[in-house]
Amino acid sequence: MFKAPFLVANWKMNYGIKQAVQVTADIVVGLRGMRRKGQLVLCPSYPALLSVKQTIGDESISLGAQDLSGQDRGAFTGEVAPWMIKEAGAEYVIIGHSERKKYFSETNESINNKVKNALKEGLTPIICVGETFEERQENQKDHVVLRQVQNALDGVKVSPINPIIIAYEPVWVIGTGQAIEPSDAEYMHTLIRQVLIDLYPLVVVDHHTAILYGGSVDENNVDEFCDKEHIQGFLVGSASLHSQQFLKIIEKVCKESSAQS
Ligand code: PEP
Repeated sequence: MFKAPFLVANWKMNYGIKQAVQVTADIVVGLRGMRRKGQLVLCPSYPALLSVKQTIGDESISLGAQDLSGQDRGAFTGEVAPWMIKEAGAEYVIIGHSERKKYFSETNESINNKVKNALKEGLTPIICVGETFEERQENQKDHVVLRQVQNALDGVKVSPINPIIIAYEPVWVIGTGQAIEPSDAEYMHTLIRQVLIDLYPLVVVDHHTAILYGGSVDENNVDEFCDKEHIQGFLVGSASLHSQQFLKIIEKVCKESSAQS
């Protein structure tokens, strides 16, 4: 069963091995003595995966990759297969981030393929969905996000050994420092949950799926999202790059969720 709240750090292409190890070590130290709940996942670049895993040691922090190949093995120069990510110690993988859609032509089809490939190897996919500013302006956001979730999960069986995470990330607020209104995020999360309920039994949705919010979350705004019923955690970009800032977010999320339980 999933342990909410989830906090996922997406370090993108910002840290090599040395810096990723340093930030991880700082996080490990900062977490000592903190009363923690839920699941913390660090997603460094591919070359840093193994070193970050070694730095984590026995601490209850998980490792994730930022992408994976839709292929298994063979003549696919530059690709990284799910089993390689697993071998480096990762349990999670971000799939379909808006930057991959924008700069690397990821499609609904390639995302669906990657989701299946991740699950086949026992990696939990963190599937990113979200509308652009134009789509929102045109009142298309519900339809766009609904289709993205349906397409990503087409033919995907979710179960205790194959859980999934959806990260709702409105593309137009990513990296801007300006998150959307928590009530707006909650509305979109409720919609995504409904799509999941249409696809899977309620018990599966309740125990083996999670819906996270991502988009300019920081230590100043995170608590406003924590009391929303259907927000089960956060995917954090910029504010996860600095250990002290990220630790403050972790502390706030854990405090808020303890107060609610
Ligand atoms: C992201 O890119 O997934 C993200 C949430 O970034 P930021 O927190 O910087 O908006």
